[in-house]
Amino acid sequence: MKKNDIFELEITDMGTDGEGIGHYDGMTFFVKDALIGDVITARATKLKKNYGYARVEEIKTPSTFRVEPQCELHKRCGGCQIQALSYEKQLEFKNNKVRNNLMRIGGFSEAKLDSKMQPPVGTDNPYRYRNKAQFPVGYDRDGNIVTGFYASRSHNIIPVEDCRLGVPQNKEILDIIKEWMNECGITPYDENTHKGLVRHVLIRYGFTSKQIMVCLVINGDSLEAKRRAGNAADILCERLSKIDGMTSISYNINKENTNVILGKKTVCIWGRPYIEDTIHLLSYPDFTPQGTGITYQISPQSFYQVNPKQTEKLYSTALAFAGLTGNENVWDLYCGIGTISLFLSQKAKQVYGVEIVPQAIEDAKNNAKLNGITNAQFFVGKAEDVLPQFYENAKKKENITDDTASTGHTDMLRPDVIVVDPPRKGCDEKCLDTMLAMSPERIVYVSCDSATLARDLKILCEEKYELMKWQAFDQFSHTTHVESICLLERVSN
Ligand code: SAH
Repeated sequence: MKKNDIFELEITDMGTDGEGIGHYDGMTFFVKDALIGDVITARATKLKKNYGYARVEEIKTPSTFRVEPQCELHKRCGGCQIQALSYEKQLEFKNNKVRNNLMRIGGFSEAKLDSKMQPPVGTDNPYRYRNKAQFPVGYDRDGNIVTGFYASRSHNIIPVEDCRLGVPQNKEILDIIKEWMNECGITPYDENTHKGLVRHVLIRYGFTSKQIMVCLVINGDSLEAKRRAGNAADILCERLSKIDGMTSISYNINKENTNVILGKKTVCIWGRPYIEDTIHLLSYPDFTPQGTGITYQISPQSFYQVNPKQTEKLYSTALAFAGLTGNENVWDLYCGIGTISLFLSQKAKQVYGVEIVPQAIEDAKNNAKLNGITNAQFFVGKAEDVLPQFYENAKKKENITDDTASTGHTDMLRPDVIVVDPPRKGCDEKCLDTMLAMSPERIVYVSCDSATLARDLKILCEEKYELMKWQAFDQFSHTTHVESICLLERVSN
């Protein structure tokens, strides 16, 4: 086999990034945009000893799992990897991804995983589900200002006019911004030269409140018109504010040479510095609505789950797994704007939230007030710093040594439940160690990366916890990302 050889390949599996996998001539081939069940004519693009990469030349027999994608750019844009795969198969793929990671990295047996699995939670709306989009701004080859998404594994902007995962208002907003930039002589940022002003446009939409937030991330200190008389910021606000639901317009300053989208400082130039949205409590496991829900204020810099319909199911499951009766002390680590904390506080005695972004903690405190919640307290800092410090202080106060700490029954030393919802890199070991030392009865682990989830569960379950339930959630339809929740119970002291 040589590079550029053409051969027939049956796709029999899918890789973690959604790529098709097939075997030919003793070699394993990875093929982008080929689906499990396809028979294709493949062209070898890269060869290694036992494996290689190939491209689809022609689909000879399409897979029975193939469906018509809604977006014509799905192969070029790096946002969606599996839009051509039927929804049922996407869900199965995601469930298997979590299961495989728990098995391979976490070391759990197949029998254990099968007996503890809860059915994966899919959605009725796999399109138009995202409440947030961050569009990079740049030039196309002809020098026109474009907004869109990065192509996979690159920083080339694919102009995406109307992403089908986002709300239709995104297009209207981007059109206004592009026209305004042209008129006012405002330039897009260029990563190579580190020149130009507008880097990204962040748009958020509250699905319940119908409120819209627009935040321009800029490589500068203000929005100044070069070409047109008048204040560029005023012109922009005047136009954007005509859109139904516009609530907050701001810019965020990011002058660093970095891939991180947002800088530290945000300046509100119209309306309020946040939007609101409501998340309703659902019953578990059938997800029927219960009660009126909790309303959250969300600032540009704060994390907020991107799929609000699925978030209601996710948080309701976290609450159900926490098994609260009203008497419990609960920690919510990596709490963001206090979303899960406030959900838990409805059924707990006291909740403590920890989050690294100060603005998010401000939001969390306001959110508690907004909803009349008085049994939630929030700390700014890294979970791996705040939790150990809190634990050490509590031990000192109660005059308890390490040997007796785990049998100490004070509320402070031994919370009933710890919920964690870390970013993709998972929990820091210092945080896991303190969780083990505090040894709550239950740990609820919410994860957006099942590989780091599995790594962390291995540490927790090696010592004194047992996996009782795991469940996959589709928060990110058409992508290979998957959310999951695990319930661990303490089996020894
Ligand atoms: N539970 C929240 C947020 C989850 S996202 C929700 O569902 O909305 C993960 C959060 O962890 C983000 O808000 C991020 O800012 C925060 N974070 C990242 N590293 C952290 C750390 N070391 N300690 C505490 N919080 C951290």
